[in-house]
This record gives sequence, C-alpha cells and structure tokens, in this order.
Amino acid sequence: MPEEHLTFDGLGLIPELLSATKRAGYARPTPIQQLAIPPALAGRDVLGCAQTGTGKTATFALPILQHLNALVGNKPKIRALVLTPTRELAAQISDSITTYGEDLDLWHTVIFGGVSEKPQIAELRRGVDLLVATPGRLLDLMGRGLVQLDDVELFVLDEADRMLDMGFLPDVRRITKALPKDRQTMFFSATMPPQIRRLAEGLLDRPVSVA
Ligand code: AMP
Repeated sequence: MPEEHLTFDGLGLIPELLSATKRAGYARPTPIQQLAIPPALAGRDVLGCAQTGTGKTATFALPILQHLNALVGNKPKIRALVLTPTRELAAQISDSITTYGEDLDLWHTVIFGGVSEKPQIAELRRGVDLLVATPGRLLDLMGRGLVQLDDVELFVLDEADRMLDMGFLPDVRRITKALPKDRQTMFFSATMPPQIRRLAEGLLDRPVSVA
C-alpha cells in the first residue's frame, strides 16, 4: 500500500488510542510510526534511527499504552520504563503520554533531577504503570529502594547518542542490568556511532530496524 494511503486505522491500535491520535490532530502516521508501530504492537524489539520531530514518541508510547491497557485491573507497578537524557525530554514525553492515554485507566509519572524529589516519591508510592525517567534521578531512587524495576516488561531507551554525549552510558548500563531479561525493548538514536551500535546489540533481541 503506498505510504500516503496508510492511516492510523491500519496499524492495529485500539479505539481508545485511535481517538487519541485524532484528538492530537494527527492526519496520518509518520514514516517511523507506519514502520514501527505494528511490530512494536506484536511485541518485537525495535531499533529506530530517528531524531526528535519524526514522531518517535508516539511510536513507542502508543504500543506501550496498548500493552499496559491489556493488563488494567492489576495493581499498578512499573511495567514500562522510558529512559531519556534530559528533563525537558522527560517532561515532553510525559505530556505526550498524558495526551495519548487520556481514554485509558493507567498511571504514569516522570522523575528527573534538579527539582524536589518529594512529589516524585509520593507518586511512586501511590503506584504507577509507566515511569519516564532521566538516569541520575532514577539511579538515586533505585539505590534507596524507592524504585524497583523487577516488573518491567517494556523498556525504551530514547536518544541513546545523547546519553553517550552527556556521559550517561555507565548509568544506562547500571539501569539496564537491573531490568528483567525477558522484556520488549525499543531503542532510539539519531546517530549510530560504534559505542551506540554495540549498546543496542547488547540490549535488543532480533530487532526490527527502522530508519
Ligand atoms: P517527536 O518526534 O515524538 O518529538 O514528535 C514531534 C512532533 O510531531 C510532536 O509535536 C508530535 O505531537 C507531532 N506528531 C507526532 N506524530 C504525528 C503525526 N502522525 N502527525 C502529525 N504530527 C505528529
């Protein structure tokens, strides 16, 4: 089917998420959304070579929300983790998840450094299904037993090359070591320098590659 005819309806999303794309004013899926959402919904790992502006947030957020929605009714625990390098990106991703998840009964929160940890800890104590985090604050709260990643089923590493530029790769490695081996991983990077490709190879299992 030619790209320009492909609509959100053909991707396999549930009505609650289709309505979210309409509410957001999206006429049709971007190329990365067309290529990555169906395999992500099917549980495949994804390697996305994509920068901000390509629609990559919805590419990982919509399949995550659909997966979590199927588990609704269970006590909230962190079943999905999105790791991103900066607090601005973390806040943006969290806002997008609020928009996309409006018709779903799911809890999410965002944690990052440079602000008081108290409200973040209170949200975590109440229980969340999805956590968006920057590496430093996440490791800090993990180290104090305030965040457990044992139940993570979906993991997103966002802007991996910026993680490298900002010196976060050791932190990222410590966090990924704490994740269950049996999980779905989506890995996004605008560029793929040698260290990032190696990191991706270590984290992904037969991924679908989307440029
Ligand atoms: P991102 O690459 O995820 O940071 O998204 C960049 C911008 O594109 C955001 O403002 C999104 O709301 C918007 N966007 C995402 N998907 C679509 C789409 N399918 N159609 C139009 N805009 C979109």
